[in-house]
Amino acid sequence: MWNNKKKAFTLSYDDGISQDIRFVELLNRYGLKCTFNLNSGIQTGASSRVGQNNTPIHRMNYAGLKELYAGHEIAVHTLTHPDLTKLDEETIYNELTADKTNLESFFGTKVTGMAYPYGTHNETVRALIKKAGLHYARTVHSTNAFDLPTDLLQLPATCHHRAENLMDLAKQFVESSADAPQLFYVWGHSYEFDVDNNWDMIEEFFKYISGRDDIFYGTNYDVLSPLF
Ligand SMILES: [Zn+2]
Repeated sequence: MWNNKKKAFTLSYDDGISQDIRFVELLNRYGLKCTFNLNSGIQTGASSRVGQNNTPIHRMNYAGLKELYAGHEIAVHTLTHPDLTKLDEETIYNELTADKTNLESFFGTKVTGMAYPYGTHNETVRALIKKAGLHYARTVHSTNAFDLPTDLLQLPATCHHRAENLMDLAKQFVESSADAPQLFYVWGHSYEFDVDNNWDMIEEFFKYISGRDDIFYGTNYDVLSPLF
């Protein structure tokens, strides 16, 4: 797996918001691959709100999204972004399968994974994810480590990009000799770079982590599918 490399790096970003345009430009500049988790039932500018520091949190309209996200992965984030643990089984299943079907038909790709809205899940939700034909589901849990996940339906990240030790983790990952496979997995929302006014921070991180011969850069599917 991973083109015979021992280390892999991947990213997972949620909600299909307008700051993804700037974020994708950065990813593409540094040759990094990300999975974007979208809510196809509310992917419209009509669902805009204003976040901290007057930051617009604006889901983009569909026009241009296929071109924007080309080369990256599209994954389920449910149809309307509910807390899945609060719904009945039929509604949960529809939130998963309708989103998957909509995304597959719009983007013309196979959708194989998801991120949980709010990170919430339970046994019922996880069973329905399997039934829906999805192979992995990302939580909001951070491990601060690079071990391969043991349960793909309770997939943790190494950290959120807001983690204070992000660059320390990056150094640790780059400098380690990696006898066993190691995965560095970062998640977030691109509007947070506007809220925190730190696009320079993420670019520094990308500059450091990218372009290394011994690291495989892939989407969630690329790095996780050998474990399906
Ligand atoms: Zn979300």
